[in-house]
Amino acid sequence: MKKITKTMLALSLSGVMTFGALTTAGLPVGAVGNGPNYNGNESIQTSILTTYEELVDYLEKQEQRQQAMELEVIGETVKGRDIYMAKYISNEENPTILFLTQQHGNEQLTTEGAMEFIKHLGTGKTSSVLDNVNILIIPMLNADGAMGDVNFSTDDYIASGDRHLTRTNANNIDLNREHNKPIDEMEPEARALYENVFEKYEIDYLIDLHHQGTQSERDGKLVSGSILYPTNPNVDPAIVEDSKKLGAVVFHEIESKGWGHLGKYNGGSGDNIGRNGIALRYDIATLLFEMRGMSDHTNPTAVLGQKSNGYLIRQTVNTLDSTVKAIADGSIDTVDTSFWETLPFQTTRPSNEE
Ligand SMILES: [Zn+2]
Repeated sequence: MKKITKTMLALSLSGVMTFGALTTAGLPVGAVGNGPNYNGNESIQTSILTTYEELVDYLEKQEQRQQAMELEVIGETVKGRDIYMAKYISNEENPTILFLTQQHGNEQLTTEGAMEFIKHLGTGKTSSVLDNVNILIIPMLNADGAMGDVNFSTDDYIASGDRHLTRTNANNIDLNREHNKPIDEMEPEARALYENVFEKYEIDYLIDLHHQGTQSERDGKLVSGSILYPTNPNVDPAIVEDSKKLGAVVFHEIESKGWGHLGKYNGGSGDNIGRNGIALRYDIATLLFEMRGMSDHTNPTAVLGQKSNGYLIRQTVNTLDSTVKAIADGSIDTVDTSFWETLPFQTTRPSNEE
């Protein structure tokens, strides 16, 4: 399965070109829901994804170019990789939003989107929002998992390419189940997030960016992603309401695109999950955003071919762009949240195979 044939090589090369073209130009109409799933014919290729080293290099170059941006190392992974946070803090009094990607190392397109967004912030087009909102971006929290540099076998992971990407960290721990622990008992990546971010910065909003499987649908149509606010019963109702507003900004933005189609994520209420635990511990309004399809997995229905990369990266960029604008201009306070009352939970499309 992992042997690279000429056909697969050609496909992966065309994927690279498509990838580049899509991130700089527009997107094909109707791209959503038709992203090819892994079926043995298409290569699931990890080599086109940004490596940790490339990410660091990119962030350092952006920091040099962008007056408003500052890079901070918030801690180290199990394997000793520095974990970076990009900061745009113009005024401590401004509301602050944190974007977090890759708690799960095999969910990488959100990081690609965050990188694109950082580049946007360096251009004149969006820089005016920075006067009215503070932005923190942690791309690739689980850098060891993202690089497949882990203390367990990745033989069952199915993607081709230079590396595998794993959900858990190097110790095989799910970082998005660490959020109810005392900070000093957390895995190093989660501890860095708490000790040096939540304990040190006054944060109002968080979008926790993930990827889900490929077969979720709403109203009979495959979704491009799903969203959910904190559902732990002990979260302050006012924080839940602010979280629903954050979700409303995202929902209206993505649904207004021809390719965007979102469902409600059917998630647990446990306080060990970031969406719940962070809202509970710090009174931060949180939104989980699950993009369609993972970069690597042991389960073929979880991964998505790279032909979908363009619109999923675009979906991330639009999410980040729209929420910082809505917070900066205050429109988030009056956004219509009524869609939450009727938005159905996504369901899994029944398999055609026996
Ligand atoms: Zn995830």
